[in-house]
Amino acid sequence: MEKLLLGKVCIVTGGSKGIGRSIVDLFAREGARVFYFSRSEAEGDAALGSVKWLACDVGDEAAVNAAVESVIAEAGAVDALVNNAGVTRDGLVFRMSLDDWETVVRTNLTSAFLVSRAVARHMIKRRSGSIVNVSSVVGIIGNGGQTNYSASKAGLIGFTKSLAREVGSRGVRVNALAPGFIDTSMTEKIPAEAKEKLKAGIPLGRTGTGEDVAAAALFLCSELSAYITGEVLKVDGGMGM
Ligand code: NAP
Repeated sequence: MEKLLLGKVCIVTGGSKGIGRSIVDLFAREGARVFYFSRSEAEGDAALGSVKWLACDVGDEAAVNAAVESVIAEAGAVDALVNNAGVTRDGLVFRMSLDDWETVVRTNLTSAFLVSRAVARHMIKRRSGSIVNVSSVVGIIGNGGQTNYSASKAGLIGFTKSLAREVGSRGVRVNALAPGFIDTSMTEKIPAEAKEKLKAGIPLGRTGTGEDVAAAALFLCSELSAYITGEVLKVDGGMGM
């Protein structure tokens, strides 16, 4: 089978580790030229000739605009964008500081607005493009201790559907992924006992991997999903049914 992203230019936010790193690796293997935005560089980029890091805090408007413009200047276009960067600052709502609320909303939700706004402009002109926002099952079903995080992830779903309606007629598709429990540095802090309990609620009987999510991102960024927009695809082993 021909590579699914041959010659395509892709931006992946939060590509230095975890799910984002799996997406960067898979997209590069599928023939894409990948630019990833994060505050730190991943180890091992040298092995991937078509991958470039741009230092960028995705909550910083000026930094985002500069990073997107530098991709356009270098590559001439952007075919796909994956808004994946995200953080958690968990805590019960009555103990949560405004800073913990705002950091999570800015990093997870405002970032998607900032990067999509900068990129969609170019996609609309070319009448082609795919944007994928990495939400979460907790944006659909909620989770105690994560009001800030789940609000940001639910917000991403509303953002996805509204933007899909705005830009659909210009050939740009916008979809969301809702991963369940994925093994990354974000989830490694969860105690083993709690993890076992969570696992028991997953019909497929295992936690997910970055590669599981990357495969779904590849589908949504490729022509295989040409007639899909405004969709939220769960990648959760059945956990959020
Ligand atoms: P992770 O291993 O902690 O990676 C997070 C990534 O986001 C890193 O590359 C980090 O890079 C980047 N990032 C964080 N803040 C940033 C900022 N201000 N500017 C630019 N980049 C920033 O987390 P993960 O588990 O892979 O999560 C990836 C996405 O999947 C997140 O949106 C998360 O909410 C979502 N998700 C994860 C799970 C799960 O179970 N793991 C489930 C559902 C959804 P730097 O630190 O270098 O900036």
